[in-house]
Amino acid sequence: VKSELYSKYNAYPIFLTEEAMDKFYLGFCNRTIWPLFHYFPSFAVYEEEYWDNYKSVNETFCDSVMDIIKEDDIVWIHDYHLMLLPKLIREKMPDIKIGFFLHIPFPTFEIFRLLPKEWSADIIKGLLGSDLIGFHIYDYTQYFLRCVLRILGYEHNMGEIITNERIIKADTFPMGIDFNKYYNAAKSQEVEEEIRELKKTFPDVKIVLSIDRLDYSKGIINRLKGFELFLQKYPEWHKKIILAIVVVPSRIGVPHYDQMKHQIDEVIGKVNGKFGSLEWTPILYQYKNLQLNQLVALYRISDVALVTPLRDGMNLVAKEYIAASCDKTGVLILSDMAGASNELGEAIIINPNNVNDIAAALKQALEMPEHEQINRNKIMQTRLKRYDVIRWAEEFLKELNNIKELQNKFATKILSNKLAERLLNNFVDSNKRIIFLDYDGTLVPIVSKPELAVPNEEINMILKKICELPNTDVVLISGRAKNTLQTWFGNLNINFIAEHGAWLKHINNDWETIKPLKNDWKKQIIPILEIHTDRLPGSFIEEKEYSIVWHYRRSDPELASIRAKELADYLVNFTANIDIQVLRGSKVIELRNSGINKGNAAIQFLSKNEYDFILAIGDDWTDEDLFKNLPEKAYSIRVGLTQSYARFNFHNYIEVIQLLKRLINTGK
Ligand code: UDP
Repeated sequence: VKSELYSKYNAYPIFLTEEAMDKFYLGFCNRTIWPLFHYFPSFAVYEEEYWDNYKSVNETFCDSVMDIIKEDDIVWIHDYHLMLLPKLIREKMPDIKIGFFLHIPFPTFEIFRLLPKEWSADIIKGLLGSDLIGFHIYDYTQYFLRCVLRILGYEHNMGEIITNERIIKADTFPMGIDFNKYYNAAKSQEVEEEIRELKKTFPDVKIVLSIDRLDYSKGIINRLKGFELFLQKYPEWHKKIILAIVVVPSRIGVPHYDQMKHQIDEVIGKVNGKFGSLEWTPILYQYKNLQLNQLVALYRISDVALVTPLRDGMNLVAKEYIAASCDKTGVLILSDMAGASNELGEAIIINPNNVNDIAAALKQALEMPEHEQINRNKIMQTRLKRYDVIRWAEEFLKELNNIKELQNKFATKILSNKLAERLLNNFVDSNKRIIFLDYDGTLVPIVSKPELAVPNEEINMILKKICELPNTDVVLISGRAKNTLQTWFGNLNINFIAEHGAWLKHINNDWETIKPLKNDWKKQIIPILEIHTDRLPGSFIEEKEYSIVWHYRRSDPELASIRAKELADYLVNFTANIDIQVLRGSKVIELRNSGINKGNAAIQFLSKNEYDFILAIGDDWTDEDLFKNLPEKAYSIRVGLTQSYARFNFHNYIEVIQLLKRLINTGK
């Protein structure tokens, strides 16, 4: 099998045991993920054994990929069976290009959270091993992004998620079909032959076609009931119509599928018994897999295609039916729960849960004048032809390259070892040096409560040593209140900038404000903040002498994002006529006097001396004012992978500590 697959298809098989197929494929994939992601939570089972097998099969895939993969290969992973694989490969090959495409819906958080916490987090983390994650429609992308926020706390910007290490993009790519394959097949001799054969067996009546894999998500029972209602309501159509229904066997062995098969047999028997006669059987039913020519022949001779899934990621049958209409006639009735309905708006769109809708749509379809059918189908064909499966793949791969380029742009900004060497040499060669260090997020990790970020032994030691370096001024430049800085670091030979530049203190001098400041505005603002704090559990107000900060890091991220926008909007209007600025930061909204920022404060230091070595390190938007105001030759470093005025980036605070230690060692 292996050598044949390789020589004929350039493919490598992965052999799974029967047990793995049972527990991974029929189990976790098709009894947990499939029902849940298709909004059938009551069908979902949560078996630890299934999950274990899912993990181990994903690992097996990873091992097999490792055997053949090369550095500059592209890995494109498809579908819900392999959601852990991106991360597994990423761990082994950090720079490899990985794309992931999900061919089924991604559900809302309300549904996704039904998975045990560990599983849902692992799935999201697994997917985030990719560089690009694609979905069929905009809604699925949004639901995924919301789950990322709810589960891992990462916000996104236009679908771009910045984790600690990388930029990852989630985007929408509606999958097309191989349009020409169906369009050309429809005109082929072989299909003409099939049509002739079919016509021999089919009576000369209108044909309504229904084709799907056996699956509860396809809405086959509702469709049959809709057809039954149609026959009941419109007896004038008796003997003038048949429903040709093909059900393709699928997932045999999964209980819900087996039950459904029986149910379909029953309903068809009932309808045929109720309305049929010796010369007319209303429903012709086949339970089998069709060859391409047979399928296209059926598409062509059908007057109506009835595609009514209760939930479907995309639905290709609907697209193929339109593509195969070479004379442009035929009517598509399509469920608005199919992803395809976003692109096929000229079809008759129905709600599959409403059998009245189905019956009415059938009548409308059967009575639709030919010129209208042609008009509608022409528009849909043009669209399907333009955005076919090849274009879909090209767009996906193009975007994958784009996101990789964006990552590389950042990579070139990462202060590599080589660049760090140069920095250290400059440091050694210089006569007068100044170092600006932000505190939270730069020297210590961000924590949910600001009061918990107390400096530890190591930080104290590093700061002490760095302050002892000859010809070196060190400025701790923070948003924190001056009293906090004083308490924590007052014993060091260090300069301070506090409250984002409102206060500064030179060594051996007293604290001074950067300009005459007011704080009488605070009593007007605090009541507003209090109201918003009540509305957002977990948020709190931090009052400083010349500024106020509203923190929401500990709140529910989704609600917080809405409330913060509301509050910022309100405050901007409220403060329009006073000399106060409203700033949105990382999980904070801050109000302070205009003109106060770290950049202006830093100038107070820079203008005092001729420094020939300047280093500034910070981690958030407030540090951008500092980076902007530095001379070109200064070394500025932003912690975290974000667009920045800084010349360089660090991944995290640990790299800051490492650099400071090296400075201490070389500068002694
Ligand atoms: N199909 C097939 N054999 C058949 C009937 C259908 O291979 O006997 C194909 C059909 O052409 C389509 C696919 O199966 O490409 C079904 O895709 P769809 O998105 O409609 O549903 P899915 O089965 O993926 O849920």
